[in-house]
Amino acid sequence: MEGRDMQECNVCFRHCRIEEGKLGFCGARICAGGEVTAANYGRITSVALDPVEKKPLRRFEPGKKVFSIGSYGCNLRCPFCQNYEISWSERAGRYAKEAEYVSPEEIVKIALDLQARGNIGIAFTYNEPLIGWEYVRDTAKLAKEKGLKNILVTNGTAGSDVLKEILPYIDAMNIDLKAFTDRFYRELIRGDFDMVKEFIQTAVKSCHVELTTLVIPGENDTMEEMRELSGWISGLSGRVPGKQIPLHVTRFFPQFHMTDREATPVETVYRLADAAREHLEFVYEGNV
Ligand code: SF4
Repeated sequence: MEGRDMQECNVCFRHCRIEEGKLGFCGARICAGGEVTAANYGRITSVALDPVEKKPLRRFEPGKKVFSIGSYGCNLRCPFCQNYEISWSERAGRYAKEAEYVSPEEIVKIALDLQARGNIGIAFTYNEPLIGWEYVRDTAKLAKEKGLKNILVTNGTAGSDVLKEILPYIDAMNIDLKAFTDRFYRELIRGDFDMVKEFIQTAVKSCHVELTTLVIPGENDTMEEMRELSGWISGLSGRVPGKQIPLHVTRFFPQFHMTDREATPVETVYRLADAAREHLEFVYEGNV
C-alpha cells in the first residue's frame, strides 16, 4: 500500500517507491526527509590503481593507469556477479554501516598525487556507480577541472536524466551489454534490455564507449545472438561509426550463485569473437 511518506526513485527502470527511512531495491538509495538521496554517497569500499585495460578499455589511453573506486549496492541481480561482496550479497549490506566516507575533494587529491605513478584520472567502477550518480557527478566535475580524465564502468541501466547529469564530465565508458535478449535481462538478472540499449545509444554520441559481453554457457552463447548483438552495435551512430565501437567478449567462470555449469570453453569465446568481427573492427577476447 502506498502511504503519504512514500517517494519514487527514478534513477533506474525499477522506479522503487520508498518509505521514509527505508532503502530502495539497490540498497544504496534512501528516502530521507521526503526525498530520495544516495545513502552510499562517498562511501568507498574499494580502491586500486589499475591499468586502463583492466576496466576493460583497449582504445582509450592505452598503457596508462587509473585510480579506480567503488561503493556498495546494485540495481541488478546477476547470479554470476564478480563483485558480489560489494554489490548484493549479505556482506554488501554490511557496508552500509561500515564503508568509510571519502569526499570528492579527497578522492581528487589522491588521484592527483597518483599522477606521479602514471595515473590519468578516476574510474567509477566495481559496484554499479550510477545508483549513487550524485557522487560520480560531483567528483568527476572536480576531477575534470583539475585536468584529470573520468572513466565510468556501468551496467547501463540508469535513466536518461541521470545520464545527462554525468555525461559532461565523463571521458570514457565501458558499458555491459550482457546479452541480446529480453529473456536474459528480465529473467536471469532482473534487468531491463530496452533501457540498456537506449543508454548505449545516448552514450556513444558523447564520449568514448567500449562494450562488454560476458559469454555464459547456455544463456547467451549462440552465434545467432552474437551476430544480432554485434550487428546492432555496428548500426549505432555516435562519435565514431558503429563498426568502430570496441566489443570485449569475455569468458565466464562459475561463481557466486551460478556454479551449476563449467567455465565457458575458450574455443566458444574465440568463435563468438570471430562472429562479432563480421560486423565490428575492434573485438577483444577477455579472460582466455
Ligand atoms: S536506483 Fe535503486 S532505489 Fe532507485 S529505482 Fe533503481 S533500484 Fe530503486
